[in-house]
Amino acid sequence: MLTIKNLKVKTDGKEILNNISLNINNKEIHAVMGKNGIGKSTLANTLMGDPRYEILNGSIYFNNEDLIKMTVDERARKGMFLAMQYPNELDGISNLDFIKNAINSRNKEKINTIELYKLIENTKDKLNLKDDYIKRDVNVGFSGGEKKKNEIAQILMFKPKLIILDEIDSGLDVDAVKTVGKTLKEYYENNDEISFLIITHHTNILKYLKPTHVHVIDNGRITQSGDNSLAEKIEKEGYKS
Ligand code: ADP
Ligand code: MG
Repeated sequence: MLTIKNLKVKTDGKEILNNISLNINNKEIHAVMGKNGIGKSTLANTLMGDPRYEILNGSIYFNNEDLIKMTVDERARKGMFLAMQYPNELDGISNLDFIKNAINSRNKEKINTIELYKLIENTKDKLNLKDDYIKRDVNVGFSGGEKKKNEIAQILMFKPKLIILDEIDSGLDVDAVKTVGKTLKEYYENNDEISFLIITHHTNILKYLKPTHVHVIDNGRITQSGDNSLAEKIEKEGYKS
């Protein structure tokens, strides 16, 4: 589904990623770990096409199409989704308008109002979102945890294929981690075309979305790859180990 080769990325005059290569097949769950400030969000934001990140070298293919040539919205329409570490507040745009427009821009036919409300109601219940969620502007005044849940709500409604979660567990209380973990697990199990790239420091969310592969980033590259036991070792013994 995703093939990254020899990716070198610069931002703000600094080279952050030096030589990243990564292959994610359909129905795989990859976890990426690494110290603070090492370049994990840089990787996530580059994959989604954030213009602040300049690609100096390398290639990225999504389902055999050159991702680097695509705009952010093209990437989203092809099925990529980034749940951001720090979700943006969209002042003046209600969740309802945002969701409706995003769904309509993906599909050939416009979603009818009854179907839309059913979808929103279902999602709201699954994630224990408050009743006024839909009327409020996207993430404006939301708590850290509510913003993270809103990212998951968008996943359930937009139905992406490659889901990048950038520290989705940070800011979530223990019950919310459980709700989000279970919801994403169900989404994974009920879809045939689906992969995850999960950036995390802890194994909390990985208890629900068991990674098939775990990678460690250091010095701008992937220095170690393994299975779930690598994530457990890092949580117990730290990155030095
Ligand atoms: P991580 O997610 O692993 O904690 P980041 O990818 O956010 O790390 O950041 C890697 C390095 O690049 C840090 O030193 C950070 O300050 C810098 N950096 C990332 N994005 C930007 C940006 N948009 N402007 C300036 N510096 C940035
Ligand atoms: Mg980060």
